[in-house]
Amino acid sequence: MIQNCSRRYGKFVNGNAMDYQEESYTLICDYCEKEIPRFSSFMEAVNYKKENGWKSKNVLGEWTDMCPNCIDKE
Ligand SMILES: [Zn+2]
Repeated sequence: MIQNCSRRYGKFVNGNAMDYQEESYTLICDYCEKEIPRFSSFMEAVNYKKENGWKSKNVLGEWTDMCPNCIDKE
């Protein structure tokens, strides 16, 4: 799965309160719980999966992500 870990935070810049959002996504293997943290966008995580041999599997109507290690073991 790709988990959305984005967070909002306030910060003072020159005495003004500013609202910031930090985009952060973590790719987690649904089979061994291996984590690839800190993608700055959802698409970046999707591209990483494609380029590194991860596989999306539909299990009972839910999409799961499988890392290359788990694909080998299957
Ligand atoms: Zn795995």
